[in-house]
Amino acid sequence: MKKRRFLPDAVYRGRFAPSPTGPLHFGSLVAALGSYLDAKHHNGIWLVRMEDLDTPRCVPGAADDILRTLEVFGLHSDEPLIYQSRRTSAYEEALHILQAQSAVYPCCCTRREIADSALHGIEGPIYPGTCRNGIPAGRERRAWRVATNNPAIEFDDILQGRISQRLESEIGDFVVKRADGLFAYQLAVVVDDAFQNITHIVRGADLLYSTPRQIHLQRLLGLTTPTYMHLPIAVNAQGEKLSKQTLAPAITGDDALTTLIAALTFLRQQPPGDLRGATIEQVLQWGTANWQPERLKNFRQFPV
Ligand code: GLU
Repeated sequence: MKKRRFLPDAVYRGRFAPSPTGPLHFGSLVAALGSYLDAKHHNGIWLVRMEDLDTPRCVPGAADDILRTLEVFGLHSDEPLIYQSRRTSAYEEALHILQAQSAVYPCCCTRREIADSALHGIEGPIYPGTCRNGIPAGRERRAWRVATNNPAIEFDDILQGRISQRLESEIGDFVVKRADGLFAYQLAVVVDDAFQNITHIVRGADLLYSTPRQIHLQRLLGLTTPTYMHLPIAVNAQGEKLSKQTLAPAITGDDALTTLIAALTFLRQQPPGDLRGATIEQVLQWGTANWQPERLKNFRQFPV
């Protein structure tokens, strides 16, 4: 994989990367809008990338449905979309680069075995390193894991401040190619953000603690680390993230103006009352001109 080509500071390239596991809900609209407004406020390029990599979780028709809904909200990708399901060879190439450095190793452990022996970390079981020095005789490779280490990986998030994580003790060696042969999100997102020359990643704070894993992979692959801004996520009355699992209602194009203003309000942008009589384009223009993300500083979630 080539190093990312040099881009002058003035270039801003952002993206919204939905997974088509269901229709767009309010939480994903907020992430789409926040990333769009930040890009446009900086005269940047804004892209949509379809993260349809985890095929067993993808719902037929959901990708097109998400795209149609984004169109209703005036959120158009500035460049043609890429679909992760069509980028396997790029992920394969990245895996080869990692293999050539012995940065990854094959792992035979089942979920059950890991759950039985692992400590529980902030993001699930911490892999105890069982296969680090080779697969036990008679066992077969299931997945590929990247070896982690313990010097803290740090980055300064625009909203969440300095984040520091010790990957080995807090997360453990993580999977880059799964037992079912599919590439893992952590690898694919890093490869695609670099491929698309993304300079600014604006997304939900549920991914804040994935970022050090992505920085680890960027370093191993010789890729530049983008700037990160993690927005507060929308949670329900029980404090759960709005998602398909928590039965968040789908956003429809009906009354898009009210929904768009609600998303701006969620992002603490205080849209003036007279926008209620405006068009979608006018609301986006107002949001772009008046974008003040600092109002979201240190917030990881808001109830809706
Ligand atoms: N596809 C991921 C999701 O829907 C988002 C990935 C990202 O923004 O990095 O949760």
